[in-house]
Amino acid sequence: MDFIDLGRQYEKLKIEIDQNIQNVLQHRQFIMGPEVYQLELELASFINTKHAITCANGTDALQLLFMAYDIGPGDAVFCPSVTFISSIEPAVMLGATPVFCDITDDTYNINAQSLEAQIINVLREGVHVPKAVVVVDFLGNPADYDEITSICKKYNIILIEDAAQAFGSEYHDKKCCSLGHAASTSFFPSKPLGGYGDGGAIFTNDDKVADLCRSIRVHGKGASKYDNVRVGLNSRLDTIQAAILLPKLRALKDFEVALRVNVADKYNEAFEEYLQIPKVFNNNLSVFAQYALLANSETERDNMRAYLDKENIPNMIYYPYPQHKLIVNKENPYTEISFLNAERYCKTTFSLPMHPYLKESEQEHIIKTVIKAVSEIR
Ligand SMILES: *Cc1c(COP(=O)(O)O)cnc(C)c1O
Repeated sequence: MDFIDLGRQYEKLKIEIDQNIQNVLQHRQFIMGPEVYQLELELASFINTKHAITCANGTDALQLLFMAYDIGPGDAVFCPSVTFISSIEPAVMLGATPVFCDITDDTYNINAQSLEAQIINVLREGVHVPKAVVVVDFLGNPADYDEITSICKKYNIILIEDAAQAFGSEYHDKKCCSLGHAASTSFFPSKPLGGYGDGGAIFTNDDKVADLCRSIRVHGKGASKYDNVRVGLNSRLDTIQAAILLPKLRALKDFEVALRVNVADKYNEAFEEYLQIPKVFNNNLSVFAQYALLANSETERDNMRAYLDKENIPNMIYYPYPQHKLIVNKENPYTEISFLNAERYCKTTFSLPMHPYLKESEQEHIIKTVIKAVSEIR
């Protein structure tokens, strides 16, 4: 059993994927070929934003946005303490200061009260200017955009949605990737929409930001490639990756999201009385990039994982440490605080196999084993 089974997806989409790769080998426009523009059109139409701009990976998608918004030294960039380092890494590279916030105890997304408290904290200290918040749709679950948008308006802060784990998720009647001033996503192979290598995209309705990102992804090009008007990056999506992503996008739309939700519903129903299950609010939809459960304690979690390992059930921790406890952030002036929800989450979380092609028999085996583990360990 695989934690995420990409082989089964390939079996299902093989004819289209192989054909699309062959087409690229025939036309040989390996950089910015027609599939890249076709994918951008289909991405924008699915997400319902004016612009979709592909790039080399999800981390670069954030970097392109931070550069487009001119984020740099003196700027405070807020983000949840529980996320992958990529959410904040490019802002730090550009000289900005990350300011971590606690998460909620049920969705594990950025906690709006903690965000506002940290903004007030930064304003009171007067060293950094509150500039942007990176809101992560953690493990695929949309954050609380009504609350966060009103805080961003109140303090005039840019809202950047890191939807690397939430391509296909929905908040109320909108798709994730369309919930901030701009959004980023990742096509890393194991993400809900993944290629066969690195890839990423930016989404926005803002023409100016879109133009800047299109320039910065090709070395700060002006009207042409050799008319450079600003410092940029080399961050394009390979044509072959776009060709692979096209049929995968259609599969995600047509049936993979529904299959993911089915798996999660079954897990939720089975585990509700034993462990803390993930909370998805009523008007939202999560693609469950990961399915995470919380144990009662760190020891219980570690014992659960040892039991699952012994029974050959793949399992992972997303993520073992909150950002404010990482060595890389040890000099950060805003990390003295303890974030109780973030710390509890990281100590007790573990994730189970989750993908659209998990067979019913496999799911039943996982469920039986987890429940047996709980009863033997407690
Ligand atoms: C995967 C991920 C990214 C970065 O994506 P890459 O394509 O690997 O660079 C950013 N943010 C979050 C929350 C992620 O999970």
